[in-house]
Amino acid sequence: MVNAVVTFSILLAIILYIYFSVGMTIVQNTDAELMSSAYQMKRFVNLMGNEPVSLLDDELNKDYVYLTERLEKSMLSFCVWDGNNTIVESQKNFNYEDEVLNKCREALFADDTMSVNTLDEPDGIYYIHEYHYNDTNIRVCSTILSDDKGDLRVIQLVGNMNEKNAFNEKLFNSLTVSAFFGVCISFLCGYFIAGRSMIPIENNMNKQKEFVADASHELRTPITILRTNLDLVMSSPEEDVGSQLPWLENAYKETERMEKLITDLLFLARTDLKQTDIEFTKTDISELLNEIVLSVSPAASEQNIGISLITENTPLYIFADKSKIEQLMLIILDNALQYTPDGGSITVSAGSYNGMVNVSVTDTGIGISEEDIDKIFDRFYRADKARSRRQGGTGLGLSIAKFIVEAHKGTISARSTLGNGTVIEIGFPIYEEGV
Ligand code: ATP
Ligand code: MG
Repeated sequence: MVNAVVTFSILLAIILYIYFSVGMTIVQNTDAELMSSAYQMKRFVNLMGNEPVSLLDDELNKDYVYLTERLEKSMLSFCVWDGNNTIVESQKNFNYEDEVLNKCREALFADDTMSVNTLDEPDGIYYIHEYHYNDTNIRVCSTILSDDKGDLRVIQLVGNMNEKNAFNEKLFNSLTVSAFFGVCISFLCGYFIAGRSMIPIENNMNKQKEFVADASHELRTPITILRTNLDLVMSSPEEDVGSQLPWLENAYKETERMEKLITDLLFLARTDLKQTDIEFTKTDISELLNEIVLSVSPAASEQNIGISLITENTPLYIFADKSKIEQLMLIILDNALQYTPDGGSITVSAGSYNGMVNVSVTDTGIGISEEDIDKIFDRFYRADKARSRRQGGTGLGLSIAKFIVEAHKGTISARSTLGNGTVIEIGFPIYEEGV
């Protein structure tokens, strides 16, 4: 808003400058025209007075007629007075009162301040008067001389400024209106564009606020549990460590949870700052999956969950950071183990199709409802919060997984039927030599 007012004020100042300089130019041009006409009129002063003009010198008469015609076209009038203050000759090409010209004439001899400008030319003095009456604004150029007989003559050339000023005022008004609407339109456009460009910034800020609020909330819970358990220990100082072990174990588990949470938060903070180091190398994902599945097998068998790997017998190369792919697969497998009841099974499979290496992790677990499935990759999102809490989840795993996949120019999605199990599908561009 302030910008719009400042812009409009600057434009108005420029328009006012234009208005006044055009106004001055109009006045100067009119004065110059009046003066040169008055000068020309001097030649014919002997024709005026005693005898009808048409009877005199033919050539001079022609020039005089020519001059009067030109004055008519230029909308200039003239008036010639004699020494007895009577009009000898005049031509009214626009309406004005003779009384006004008479006042201008009297002013010449009264040394009146009415004169706006006096020009001392080699052929005589020219006086310029400005006169406003009713709604008319005229400029009068007067000069005094004697005719051949020695009689006094005052020649007055009269210009009507109304039309010329009206043009300038019209120009001023249309420039002001254009500037006003221009500023309004640019203000509205600016407001609209700024509003639109603010949307992603606002969204980002809201996301950041949510993130901080969620992170604080997630940290508060383990701290409360930790404190409650340590309070219990401290309330019975006479007891030995062995008998206090359940409380101490609880406290220890919560510190583990906090450590995981903080590691995840740090990872995500680094991804936001684009500070995550990813070192791409040619990686055989079949071999990597084999190692990973082997490493989680003990945890699976502890939960009585069968885990198997199905891959093609040939290597499947992708361009990847081995440790990040490992981190990704552990997040997915950890979920499969967490959300699959005892006796279930997990199948990891990998194959190539259409320039992509596809990896899928299928479990026979509790599944995810249709309304939750689109949100599971959001930070801190847990489909069933009460149950996940019990399982120690923070809801950050899949958002980290998504980041890792996208950093490898891959895709990740989930398919699930509530109660039947979940399939997480990941696609990576196949490694091509020399690319
Ligand atoms: P953590 O950050 O510790 O992994 P988490 O497992 O709750 O916590 P995510 O891994 O991001 O968080 O998963 C988000 C949610 O998606 C989970 O809370 C769970 O509700 C759901 N989910 C993910 N994988 C599965 C799965 N295989 N079966 C059922 N639900 C799943
Ligand atoms: Mg998880």
